[in-house]
Amino acid sequence: MKLCLENNNPEAHYVEGINQLFFHHKLIKALNHLRHSTYGKYDEGTYLCGLLLLYTGKIKEGKKILDTFDWEHTIYIQPLLEKDKKKTLGVYGILLKDIYLNNMARLKPPRSCDLQNMDHLCKNCYYFLRVEKFFD
Ligand SMILES: [Zn+2]
Repeated sequence: MKLCLENNNPEAHYVEGINQLFFHHKLIKALNHLRHSTYGKYDEGTYLCGLLLLYTGKIKEGKKILDTFDWEHTIYIQPLLEKDKKKTLGVYGILLKDIYLNNMARLKPPRSCDLQNMDHLCKNCYYFLRVEKFFD
């Protein structure tokens, strides 16, 4: 594992990122690892990196990363992430609730968006819902 990280194996960085995030609650460390997995074009790592950037308030950067996927592709990635999250999460709750609530307010789509209406989906709602679904 250590060797993989040293060789910048993107999957190893993803696994370590998710470990740091959900198990050790080390947000910055997790982001550093996930960034590497983004450079290696590892889908789950890239996607989680985008979500985490939004979550931590780096909204522009997060959106840019999520925009490298088309919507259909994220529908395929999301369940994979959920599975890894559950595997790692154990008894630990989710982290940094205050930061999260603050940033979710910034991400919140305009009032013209109807979040209850499943037929409505635009880009504004999209980011918000993805982050909310994953971290809530
Ligand atoms: Zn909308």
